[in-house]
Amino acid sequence: MNTHYDYLIVGSGLYGATFAYKAKQAGKRCLVIDCRDHLGGNLYCENMGGIQVHCYGAHIFHTNNKAVWDFVNSIVPFNRYTNSPLANYQGRLYNLPFNMNTFYQMWGVCTPAEAKARIDEQRREAVERMRAEGIAEPRNLEEQALLLVGCDIYERLVKGYTEKQWGRSCVDLPPFIIRRLPVRFVYDNNYFNDSFQGVPIGGYNRLIEGLLQGIETRTGVNFIEERQRSGSPFHILDATFDKVLFTGRIDEYFDFRYDKLNYRTVRFETEDLPIPNYQGNAVVNYTERQVPYTRVIEHKHFEMFGGAVDACEHTVISREYSVEWTEGLEPYYPVNDDSNGKLYEMYRQLADNEKNVLFGGRLAEYKYYDMAPIVEKVMAITEF
Ligand SMILES: Cc1cc2nc3c(=O)[nH]c(=O)nc-3n(C[C@H](O)[C@H](O)[C@H](O)COP(=O)(O)OP(=O)(O)OC[C@H]3O[C@@H](n4cnc5c(N)ncnc54)[C@H](O)[C@@H]3O)c2cc1C
Repeated sequence: MNTHYDYLIVGSGLYGATFAYKAKQAGKRCLVIDCRDHLGGNLYCENMGGIQVHCYGAHIFHTNNKAVWDFVNSIVPFNRYTNSPLANYQGRLYNLPFNMNTFYQMWGVCTPAEAKARIDEQRREAVERMRAEGIAEPRNLEEQALLLVGCDIYERLVKGYTEKQWGRSCVDLPPFIIRRLPVRFVYDNNYFNDSFQGVPIGGYNRLIEGLLQGIETRTGVNFIEERQRSGSPFHILDATFDKVLFTGRIDEYFDFRYDKLNYRTVRFETEDLPIPNYQGNAVVNYTERQVPYTRVIEHKHFEMFGGAVDACEHTVISREYSVEWTEGLEPYYPVNDDSNGKLYEMYRQLADNEKNVLFGGRLAEYKYYDMAPIVEKVMAITEF
């Protein structure tokens, strides 16, 4: 039997799920499909013995927008997790983001004036060195970082991490990648400046399930393949649709008519360990180049605090490796350079002319979005 829907929603990530929720509220009938074997896109968590494992990378929700915070909390309550990562450089630990705790650990300085003096002295040295070599403007990321924060912070906390992230030496990376390296002269390890942050109690799947409650969903269904089979984006899976919301890759939607857009990606190595506490913190960055991974995530610390950590006898960690993206790997981060920007613009023009098809989310807009701006964007849609 041919079922009719108002919307076919391609992708059950945060964009698709929030859109489906709002469309349902507006009285629309939606079918949500996803090519993965689960819902939730990159927010998906796997329950490993009571620990919610963020399968596609650690996700911390943070926002200054109270309406967004209230909205997600109306679906599932969020906890009070505060992101305060550590950096491990040659076995020594430093607090992040760069703040008075970091400067105390690095130089033993206790007051903001002492810390500022250290940084200013090292920045001056960098300026003088460049001047002596006849260099007026930083030519690469290394010179830029030295001008911003001086050699100690750069060498111990920026250089190796950045080189692993990009797979290239800092002297071969353009300076614009690091426009600012914020330093705080207060003892404050809270990574985000936002008023609200946390993680859904019980994991992100509860957020997605809440958003998609009462909405028809099908996993393991690839829109591109189904469209090829039926010849129409509005008539697949024995159903018809008035409109399509597409949250997949925009270049794939147009059969890579021009060229493929590029991404950066991360490989995760996840281990279940028979100990209650591995590193005492959710996020530890490894900032020396010799350690092949960039971060170790210990998932239980997103949701277990105090005595609950030891009460759960095992722990799950994920080592993150930055790798070059090739087809078949998850496309995580768009590459913000000229050629990809121009290519995306060409696809966007095609998208603008596509009748009754909406494009939204990080893959369809080829833009890195945190979660809160995704929710904000969908909340701003008034007509469904
Ligand atoms: C490693 C990493 C860490 C992050 N950490 C944070 C964080 O700490 N805080 C934060 O705010 N944000 C974070 N983000 C950003 C967050 O993941 C995004 O904001 C969010 O996932 C965007 O949702 P989306 O729906 O646009 O995309 P996605 O989650 O990618 O959803 C798109 C969905 O479409 C499906 N799909 C694609 N093509 C097809 C097709 N042809 N047919 C059917 N289905 C298809 C995909 O399978 C996927 O499920 C992080 C992102 C990454 C990559």
